[in-house]
Amino acid sequence: MVNEVKRLIYLAPLEKLLNIARAHSLWPLGFGLACCAIEALMAANFSRFDLSRFGYEVARGSPRQADVMVVAGTVTKKAAPFVLRLYEQMSEPKWVIAVGSCAISGGPFVDSYHVVPGVDKLVPVDVYVPGCPPRPEAIIEGFLMLRDKIKNPKVVTLPRG
Ligand code: SF4
Repeated sequence: MVNEVKRLIYLAPLEKLLNIARAHSLWPLGFGLACCAIEALMAANFSRFDLSRFGYEVARGSPRQADVMVVAGTVTKKAAPFVLRLYEQMSEPKWVIAVGSCAISGGPFVDSYHVVPGVDKLVPVDVYVPGCPPRPEAIIEGFLMLRDKIKNPKVVTLPRG
């Protein structure tokens, strides 16, 4: 009997259970910086690609209520202090997805005087989604990679396929 009970009870560290819950209920901060936000991020949310299938569509207007910052578009030096302030206003734990070449490295504007060459110069980035702009499916894949990373923080995740 005792062995049977032991077989049915699975004990997991509380942090692991919390991470599973967090990974399946990400609330993105609702903002965009340039064409990646319009061409790709908004499309990923609409019915054709349907990011809400995974439970990640509840974009919040306040950084206090968001736990993932999706940086979609060109980060200009003028916008950089506001991106940083929004990140600082999000409570822990929090994550960042860099969407598109501009957010990753400055993209086509990398040599320009007014563009930050990658948002990881401002905030720590968890997942990079390349493209100019990326396909909406690639953004969804980025969310799923972040989900895997949150559930298994010690595991390095690579794109599927
Ligand atoms: Fe626009 Fe391309 Fe930069 Fe995205 S990566 S914001 S599509 S220029």
